[in-house]
Amino acid sequence: MKKITATLLAAFFCISMFGQTEQFTSRLYETYDSYREPSLGKRRIKHEDLQPLIDAMGQKDGFEVHTVGRSIEGRALRLVSLGTGNTDVFLWSQMHGNEPTATQAIFDILNFMASSDLRGEKSEILNSVRLHFLPMLNPDGAAAFKRRNTLSIDINRDALRLQSPEGQTLKRVRDSLEAEFGFNLHDQSTYYNAERTPRPATISYLAPAYNYEKDINSVRANAMKVIGYMNRIIQRYAPGQVGKYNDDFEPRAFGDNIQKWGTSAILIESGGYPDDVEKQEIRKLNYVSILSAIYAIATGTFQDIPLEAYSEIPENDRKLFDLKIEKVTYPLLGKDYTIDLGIERPEVNAKDFEDFWNSSRISDMGDLSTYYGYESLDASDLRLRWGEVYPETLEDAGAVAQLDFWELFSKGIAYIRVRNLPADLTFSPYPVHLVSGAFKAPSGPMDIGDNPTFFLEKDGNPEYAVVNGFLYHIPTREGKGHNSMVYR
Ligand SMILES: [Zn+2]
Repeated sequence: MKKITATLLAAFFCISMFGQTEQFTSRLYETYDSYREPSLGKRRIKHEDLQPLIDAMGQKDGFEVHTVGRSIEGRALRLVSLGTGNTDVFLWSQMHGNEPTATQAIFDILNFMASSDLRGEKSEILNSVRLHFLPMLNPDGAAAFKRRNTLSIDINRDALRLQSPEGQTLKRVRDSLEAEFGFNLHDQSTYYNAERTPRPATISYLAPAYNYEKDINSVRANAMKVIGYMNRIIQRYAPGQVGKYNDDFEPRAFGDNIQKWGTSAILIESGGYPDDVEKQEIRKLNYVSILSAIYAIATGTFQDIPLEAYSEIPENDRKLFDLKIEKVTYPLLGKDYTIDLGIERPEVNAKDFEDFWNSSRISDMGDLSTYYGYESLDASDLRLRWGEVYPETLEDAGAVAQLDFWELFSKGIAYIRVRNLPADLTFSPYPVHLVSGAFKAPSGPMDIGDNPTFFLEKDGNPEYAVVNGFLYHIPTREGKGHNSMVYR
């Protein structure tokens, strides 16, 4: 009898602790805007953007800042620590230079920790754990918004050979802390989806394996439980938008080795979210879920999450396009075919890596019925036709601004010939391409890698324009592109 009462009490305690952590999560979500670091509003952040923020943190009570290493180009790698607890939690971000979402979230978390709000929960955290943040482990890569470091190696394949000073720093800090938990924070392609669903994998997780057998010891089990806990949180705000990475052992990767070295390693990958090119909604989800996880570690509530909560997360798949056009009638050599088109809009860095433009491509053609689109169009009553060049040649790119683009689209025109195209003009800021005298408009056949520019006509009239992979509905004048191309 006594035993039953104790069990019941324990169960009740669990539920109330969960209630408390869920309340904490809701408060974090609701009050996020007060802590969002406003100086980091776009993905292309640089090392120099972070330094004044870290300097300011170093001045605050309870915060310690240490330079723990330098990148190949000499940029300081700095560790921000706070808390007095016995459990060390180490979080590092952006070991791939073009994966900044969690770096932004780390500064939001630091702003929250430095504020005077939710004191009770914060002192619970800081009395139980000691937090260590190493934002932007690859600042040289970030300077050029690229994945690799200045040695052009992938730091995440350097855990054994340790040739990069960035990788050496990560290993040294991990070893000196002997942290119980390690958060390895990345971004992944926006084209990942939760398996067999059209939902983007806005967040993907992995508790990496530490051997080929994929054994689960207590170190890895704890990582799985924390992930199971975070998944529940993301499901509240982005239902169905979580994936889990394949856990094949990769002997050269940091996550796998850190798990092996005895730190519960938690990989978080920020993916895509509809209409969120700069990933600011995903940044918020990082903030809420990571802080909640830290609270669950501090209070021990993560221990009550069953391992099934991890295994039940759907697998990551890569079946998304930016735009999917379904069942269009495609004419070729006098015959009609029914095909689907999968369109991607890769980014090209611009303005000293501060900005970007899109250079879109046909990434697949054929029966794409097992794929999905952020945007998709049923084109079963539409027929593809090629775009034409505007009959007049304009003097300069500025004159193009005077044109009514919807009017041009209704006539099937997607290209404007310009006499003086400046040499440094890399893309067209208009919804039409800018071309030089020698240019000839494509008239098929279409191939993988081609720029997606064509019209979709209904009863002989252009109904949709697709220019540089952006979709425009002509009768309603709906649709917005980021840029078009310049062809010389
Ligand atoms: Zn990465």
